Amino acid sequence: MPQIINGKEISAQIKEELKEKVAAMKEEGISVCLAVIQVGDDPASSVYVGNKKKACAYIGITSLSYELPEETTQEELLKLIEELNKREDVNGILVQLPVPEHIDEDAVIRAIAPEKDVDGFHPQSVGALCIGQKGFVSCTPAGIIQLLKRSGIEIAGKECVIIGRSNIVGKPMALLLLRENGTVTVTHSRTKNLKEVTKRADILVAAVGKPRMITREYVKEGAVVIDVGIHRNENNKLCGDVDYDDVAPVCSAITPVPGGVGPMTIAMLMNNCVESAALRQ
Ligand code: NDP
Repeated sequence: MPQIINGKEISAQIKEELKEKVAAMKEEGISVCLAVIQVGDDPASSVYVGNKKKACAYIGITSLSYELPEETTQEELLKLIEELNKREDVNGILVQLPVPEHIDEDAVIRAIAPEKDVDGFHPQSVGALCIGQKGFVSCTPAGIIQLLKRSGIEIAGKECVIIGRSNIVGKPMALLLLRENGTVTVTHSRTKNLKEVTKRADILVAAVGKPRMITREYVKEGAVVIDVGIHRNENNKLCGDVDYDDVAPVCSAITPVPGGVGPMTIAMLMNNCVESAALRQ
């Protein structure tokens, strides 16, 4: 049987560590505050925002909630971000994506001050990651590095293959694995002979956005498989990009869905907020 990488447990551990850190910071008069902005009432976004606020409350981070109507203009949203950028008491600003179509997502991301960009999406944060400087890192890939490290899985020198090249998962994942001295290959929809490439991986990260596409034909015997995907299957149950039942018997370690990568994203967001407040001092 493979090692099941337990994201629920590891994220709980990180949240406990952050709770202690925030309590210690409070004693020194430093408080941590995250502003969460949601435009419109997309049900999935409301669930994500609710979970983020819950995590803040648990750790001792103040959360400011801005629930704006769907018809909010880009100008109004940018004005709010500008105000929050200036506020001394706000350490992190998060705009829940996607925003409605009439708002330019890139303009919103660029408007957030890089020192409060706890999602790690600002071009300055991405650039810093690229050249090995300090900056906030996109939460999902940062969470995957924590999952690997805290599960005792060595990255240095390993063949790491990522399926997917999105700005929020695939690309930052590649940069982080490279920073950890992995040998990294990024694949995408135009990759030829995908299975041959993925079969070289010691560590395979699936962020392809296709339910259960990755079967054992894509996986080398003994590989570590990280499943970033989140989907609902035909029975309305959560599943990932990896066909878990097919792949688990051939790999050495695997993340389940749910309970793998998912819980790590919020834990790393909380980590970025705490770091932002600590850096401000
Ligand atoms: P995107 O749709 O932005 O990117 C998907 C990537 O997969 C693209 O680079 C695309 O290639 C590539 N791709 C699509 N089809 C194939 C194929 N047949 N063969 C090879 N590559 C292919 O998705 P995201 O990166 O945003 O998310 C990926 C998954 O992770 C989704 O299921 C999403 O829900 C989930 N997710 C989970 C999070 C979590 O917290 N657990 C956080 C973020 C995402 P190309 O660039 O050529 O189009």
